[in-house]
Parts: sequence; C-alpha cells; structure tokens
Amino acid sequence: MKALFLDRDGTLMLNVPYLSDPEKVELFPGVAESLKKAQDLGYLLFLFTNQSGIGRGYYTLEDAVACNTKLIELIGLGEDVFAEVCIAPEAPDAEQVYRKPSPKFILEMIAKHSLDPEACVIVGDRIADVNAGKNAGIKRVYINSGNCSEEGEEADAVEAGAMVFPSFAAFMAAQE
Ligand SMILES: [Mg+2]
Repeated sequence: MKALFLDRDGTLMLNVPYLSDPEKVELFPGVAESLKKAQDLGYLLFLFTNQSGIGRGYYTLEDAVACNTKLIELIGLGEDVFAEVCIAPEAPDAEQVYRKPSPKFILEMIAKHSLDPEACVIVGDRIADVNAGKNAGIKRVYINSGNCSEEGEEADAVEAGAMVFPSFAAFMAAQE
C-alpha cells in the first residue's frame, strides 16, 4: 500500500500563523482535484500537522480539529478523505512526541496500515516536514510556495533528499 503524508498549513491551504478560526481556512488552487487524483492512483492519504499553538496555549485541540473539519469540507471528497489525522500539539520547548521532524506518526501508520515505505511520500513546506520523512525513511517532497518558507530552507530540503515543487498540485501533476 502506498501513501501520502500531507502537511496542512502552507501545503494544502494558506498558512495563517496560529490559525484557530475555521472561517480563515483557504484551500490552495487544485488541491481537491490533486487529492482525488492521488486516491485514483491508489494512495492512502494522511494529514500530519504540527500545531504548537496548542502547546503554547494560544488555542485548543478542538480549535485545530474545527479547522481540519473545515478543510475536509472544502476538499469535498467525503469525511474519510484522510485515513488518519495527526495533530502534533507540542510547543518547540516541550518534550517532542509526534511533532515533526519526529517520524513517530509515520512509522506507526506504516506498521498499522501495512504501508510500503518505498512507496510513501511526505509533502510539506518546511524543513521539519522533510526531516520527518527522512527520519522515517520515506520519500520527501518540499513545497516552496513562497507562503511560509524561510531563506535557505529549500537548499536544506534538497540536502535532505527532497524533490522540490512549487505546489502540491504541481507535484501531483507530475505523478502517473
Ligand atoms: Mg506547513
């Protein structure tokens, strides 16, 4: 079984720092069609998002879930479009469990869903996404949308073995 591990903010939707309002969820162009194509190609889809705003006390887990629910509604491929969702709530200075670059969620899903690591890809717009994929031993794609990336991050992502695309839609357009 093959799978995509998808970052949320800056990858599938507009990055709004410390987002807690579902009304501000804005899907990037082509994301819904690209997710449909991924499903048609046989990819199981996982949503994997760092939400340190929870650990920092800026908003609650329920707020993050409400934003995910809005995202899933806008995608329009049904409530179960993602096989599983991981919201990593840790603040950067807290003990790290699921927070990317931890590979814990990916490794758990590989075991639970009998995924082939060689056929799994993490897609994200930060070096932490790329490194989570590297730490889990799966392929990685770095999205440089200009939305959130920091200077030098793309070079670091390439160094960590990532392919670079300007958007998730552009990555999926290259898949067949
Ligand atoms: Mg992101």
